[in-house]
Amino acid sequence: METKIKQLQQLIKKADKICFFTGAGISTESGIPDFRSQNGLYKQNISFADVISKRFYDRSPEKFWPLFKEIFYLKMLHQYAPNRGHQLIANLEKSKVIHVITQNIDGLHQEAGSTNVYEIHGTIKKAHCPSCGSQFDLAYMNKTALPACEACTHLLKPNVVLFGDEIHQFEQAAEAALQSDLFVVMGSSLEVTPINQIPLLVSKHTQIPMVMINKEVTQYDDVFDLVIHDSIGGVVSRL
Ligand code: NAD
Repeated sequence: METKIKQLQQLIKKADKICFFTGAGISTESGIPDFRSQNGLYKQNISFADVISKRFYDRSPEKFWPLFKEIFYLKMLHQYAPNRGHQLIANLEKSKVIHVITQNIDGLHQEAGSTNVYEIHGTIKKAHCPSCGSQFDLAYMNKTALPACEACTHLLKPNVVLFGDEIHQFEQAAEAALQSDLFVVMGSSLEVTPINQIPLLVSKHTQIPMVMINKEVTQYDDVFDLVIHDSIGGVVSRL
């Protein structure tokens, strides 16, 4: 492990432009459960892939909202704070060009101070009115069980990419990854498509070093030059 940490230190030191690719695993140490770990949400018998879908929202937004709020702990969201993983990435902006491609919707990278963040799956911090486009914040969403537009009373839609919705900024994110000189995945199972194609694009079209920091083995570990199976907090504290 010490050799791997030293290698990672060297790679970070040498790089001028680093692209971090993060998933739910970077926020578990802030107390937000991921989807696919041993105690992740997929193991808790919630058929949430059906719930957090465009189809379900379109059919019955009034059934969608209470379940959505429960799955994403909406009422508690303000209690979560960035952890050492988010902070390491944000601090590196002082000396390097940093891009963060995140699958997370929790906004913790921005709270830590990162400025170039691609939120591929949107954000849980806002919702909009599908009818008139007005935007509303988390406090507004939490005020009533069924958040509706102030102006036209239409039920709001969260600014999260639901299953069946189009993802955001894929091309810009892929471009940022391809233009970097170090690519680091932190806390992602790389199970979700099409976002999991970005590491494969980097591997195919560049020669840059690729690092994977994840507790568990992923299906694409073999495209990475350095693979560390450990907790992000543990790795960051040793760095
Ligand atoms: P995932 O749940 O599929 O995988 C998370 C991975 O992180 C797992 O392989 C796990 O072993 C690893 N992990 C967990 N804690 C870790 C830690 N402390 N250190 C190192 N590794 C750790 O997550 P994903 O790949 O991001 O895909 C899930 C989807 O769920 C994404 O689309 C994301 O939008 C959404 N999601 C987001 C949040 C959030 O915003 N915090 C939370 C849950 C799910």
